Amino acid sequence: MLDDILDYIEHIRERPVWQPIPEDIRAKFHEAVPYKPRDLTAVHDEFIRNILPYSTGNTHPRFFGWVHGGGNPVGMLAEMLTAGLNANLGGRDHVPIEVERQIVHWMRDLFAFPATATGLFVTGTSIANLLGILVARTSVLGIGTRRQGIAANEKRLVAYVSAAAHGCIAKAMDLSGLGSEALRLIPTNDRHQINIKELTNAIDADRNAGLTPFAIIGTAGTVDIGAVDDLAALAHIAGREKLWFHVDGAFGALAILAPDLAPLLTGIESADSIALDFHKWAQVPYDAGFILVRDGTLHYDTFASPAAYLRRETRGLAAGSPWPCDFGPDLSRSFRALKTWFTLKVYGTEALGAMISNTCALARYLELRILGTSELELLAPVQLNIVCFRHRGPDADKLNGKIVVDLHESGIAAPSTTTIGGQLAIRAAIVNHRTEQRDIDALIKGVLHFGRVELLRRAA
Ligand SMILES: *Cc1c(COP(=O)(O)O)cnc(C)c1O
Repeated sequence: MLDDILDYIEHIRERPVWQPIPEDIRAKFHEAVPYKPRDLTAVHDEFIRNILPYSTGNTHPRFFGWVHGGGNPVGMLAEMLTAGLNANLGGRDHVPIEVERQIVHWMRDLFAFPATATGLFVTGTSIANLLGILVARTSVLGIGTRRQGIAANEKRLVAYVSAAAHGCIAKAMDLSGLGSEALRLIPTNDRHQINIKELTNAIDADRNAGLTPFAIIGTAGTVDIGAVDDLAALAHIAGREKLWFHVDGAFGALAILAPDLAPLLTGIESADSIALDFHKWAQVPYDAGFILVRDGTLHYDTFASPAAYLRRETRGLAAGSPWPCDFGPDLSRSFRALKTWFTLKVYGTEALGAMISNTCALARYLELRILGTSELELLAPVQLNIVCFRHRGPDADKLNGKIVVDLHESGIAAPSTTTIGGQLAIRAAIVNHRTEQRDIDALIKGVLHFGRVELLRRAA
């Protein structure tokens, strides 16, 4: 199994990025319950034939869709060790929890947070953002709300985020009981950052209307074009207005590892909480989301719940309190920290930072190629590693939508789409450490090819 999967990773470039799932393959996953045992070799063979060729393709150097990490073999091997140990990271006194705490300390150091800051691995930034909103909610309503519920409170809380923010922020407001309508989507400026003037106007208007502003959420790396909000300005406003300052740094926060990009994040060190994903730019295998909270006491107060069967001791296996289960909703938790620890230690953060920086250099190369190709048009400024562009032509939305689907089905490359200023854009996010200039060239060539084919088809 190990040999096969290492071969797969080694030769990934020779495969199609993605391929449509044949109906007979899909049908194989409608089997009856396997009452009888089968040989491991036979089941692995099924994996190789029916599962492996039809996965998303984000390990491939020409996968440019959404923001997917490429994974890495060190992280993969660490996952094997994790499964062998089968540690439960909810609590108790064992070194796997020290490994998770080690990552918390490293993140504190990287983001210049105090020693009292706490952190926790979660599935991804969607959940990390939810935890950030919940701690922010405790900061303004107090821990009594955990018993009484928010309905018992008179205050109507409102939060602020840019219109370019990820949809999971609105979902976090919904799940926290505050309601997605209590999230103000502030318009962006020409660099796709939250418009600071509009933000302060909205805060004033809400206060005048008797509402209670409680949080500003900044984005470090918007999912559409990779814009980084002016985090220093947001930190300043949050400080002045006494609001919680949360940063959704899903992929962008780890630009802190790249000396040429880190200045873009200035202000993040003043955040009250930061959400980020190791499974995106840091290439740790899925899933490995993370939340860092400046006020560890408040973080604890938001989630800790005493229970007789989780009694803490000062000695023995039940020692080592507080436990990770005191800082989030999960009790049983996997050892996500190990693959992250291995990845950070084996490659070192300097090499990871150089890799992150290189993906941005490739994005600038793609930008240059687009600007130098008359059939193509750039649709948004390139700020990090995301490039939004399109093929020119009549009925361009349809044309570009078709180009992207054709690219997927050809197996040549897998960009995704987004809408920029009402126009459908081909969106290439360069996240994978395996991507090289020749992959960018192949993307351009593929877009031009399918654009030409479609325009000729229309003319015929
Ligand atoms: C990916 C992403 C998310 C969601 O993170 P998951 O790990 O997929 O849950 C949130 N915000 C931004 C800006 C993202 O890029």
